[in-house]
Order: sequence, then structure tokens, then C-alpha cells
Amino acid sequence: MSSFSSEVKNELARVVGEQSCCHIAELASLMRMGGTMLIGGNSNLGITFTTENAAVARKVLSLIKNGFNLKTEVVVTRGRRLKKNNSYLLKVVPSPVVTSLLSALGIMRDDNINVGRDTGILRKSCCRRAYLRGAFLGGGSVNKPEGDYHLELVTGNQDFAKTLVRLLKNSGLPVGMTERKHDYIVYLKDGDAISSLLRIVGAHNALLAFENVRVVKEMRNQVNRLVNCETANLQKTVNAAVRQVENIRRIQETIGLDKLPQNLKDTAKLRLEYPDATLNELVDAAGGIVGKSGMNHRLRKLEEIACGLLHGGKDESQN
Ligand SMILES: [Zn+2]
Repeated sequence: MSSFSSEVKNELARVVGEQSCCHIAELASLMRMGGTMLIGGNSNLGITFTTENAAVARKVLSLIKNGFNLKTEVVVTRGRRLKKNNSYLLKVVPSPVVTSLLSALGIMRDDNINVGRDTGILRKSCCRRAYLRGAFLGGGSVNKPEGDYHLELVTGNQDFAKTLVRLLKNSGLPVGMTERKHDYIVYLKDGDAISSLLRIVGAHNALLAFENVRVVKEMRNQVNRLVNCETANLQKTVNAAVRQVENIRRIQETIGLDKLPQNLKDTAKLRLEYPDATLNELVDAAGGIVGKSGMNHRLRKLEEIACGLLHGGKDESQN
């Protein structure tokens, strides 16, 4: 698991839901991710919950203790090998009270087990946020922003996975779902969507870190695109004038010259009027309102715009 995932989880484990309804929603989702039911003496139910994150274990423990008077035990299994994480197992000892906890969480309805079609606890937006937070804490991971954008929630429960997909879709996020062995993977692969989810669940520090890297990364991509485009243009023709005319025509055909700022629009029209003129001749033709370096700057600006149009917002690095 990447360290960025742990960073997000450690932060989310400290986020406290707005109201008691949200505590229930968050715990319900955590239990769907990492909980297992136990059957004890007299057919009393108990629960076990496992996680590799200590902060998540503490949160689940406090959420359970918060509303219900239940006896709990914690077992820590130390990772024996290097880089193998510790594992935390929480056990809610079987008792008649566990049934009322499971009912409150919507996991039991009357005498039936509800497999993951949670609707009642998801009516309010505060609770929907808490539910998504619980899902990430219980079974989420996210790549560090320097790598490919990828966030996923992994569960063995198909109905629960579908509920998560629906919630994310309703929040306007482009979400996908796929199967891997016996698991359902609900994933986001878009930088904006991952940012939005971090904001929705309340991971504000992680969001800031994510966005900082993203800004630098996207600026670098943009610069690379321009450099590649200009290099390609240079190879295409050593004649700057011909290249400038091509660039201006490209702008004309895509967005139109009227979309340009007035000074660039004037320069573009001038170059089209005098396609063979040297830089000095263009300056003269402009009637001396702009000097040689100013004219050169405007022509470069037009080239940048044309290169930007050629590559759109896509992440290609060559043409
Ligand atoms: Zn709520």
C-alpha cells in the first residue's frame, strides 16, 4: 500500500462525523468492508473487524463504544517479515446487544441479513459523505499523485460495491467497476474526480498535497507539449514566416482570430497580409506601434496558442 494511502487514512481516521447519524453511516460502511459476523453461545451474534491501519482500528473501536455498551477485545498480529504490516483484529464479544448494533447499522433487518443495499442510512448528504469515508478507511487505496491517477475501493460484496458506484455517480464522479478474483473494485482514474472525493470525505490535508503535485505535473506536461510542438515546427520548416502563417491559419480554422486579444489579432492579420515579410518589414508595416522584440514576442505567443490548439487538453507528449 502506498504511503499516500496511509496518509489519507490516518487523516480520515481523525475526522469526526457531523452528527450521530453520520457515525452510524460510517460504521456501517466500515463493517461492510472489514467486518465478519460471529455466532457465539445461545446463538448470540458477535463481530470481528480486521485492518492493517492502527488509526482505523482505533476509530472503529471508538465508533462502536460510542453508541453501544459492548465488550470488545483487540488482537494485534505483528508483521513477521520486513515490510509486512501489522494486522489489528477487533472482536465484539457475542451478546444480545450486538443484534441491536447490527440493526442500527442496517446490516440486520428484522431477522434477515441485508447484504449491502443501504438506503435508509444514506438519506442525508452528511451521512453519504461519512459512508464513503468509511468505505475508504475500510478498503480504499490511492496512488500518490506523482504516479498515474488511481483510487480504488475493494470489497467482496457486489451489492455494497454497487451502492458505492451509485453514490459516486450521484456525486457527479466518473466511476468504474471491475472484478478481480473474488473482489469487486470500484475505481476512479481521473485526477479531478480523486480530488473531489478527497474533498467529499474530508481529507483536506491530503487534498492539498494531491493538488500541489498535480499543478506542477500538469504545468510540466503543458510545457513539454509546447516544446515538442515548436521543435516539430522547426523541423518542418526553417522559414519562420511560413511557419507563422501556418500557425495563424490553424488558429483561424479552430477558434477564429476574433477570440484572440486585440494585439495578437492585429499581428495575425498583418502576417497574413504580408506572408513573405521579414520581421523588420512587419514592424514597418505595423506603422511603428510595436518594436522588433514586441513583434517577435507576439508571433511567439501566436505559435504557443496554435501549439496548444493542436494538442488540446490531452496528455500526449509527441505529435
Ligand atoms: Zn448524517
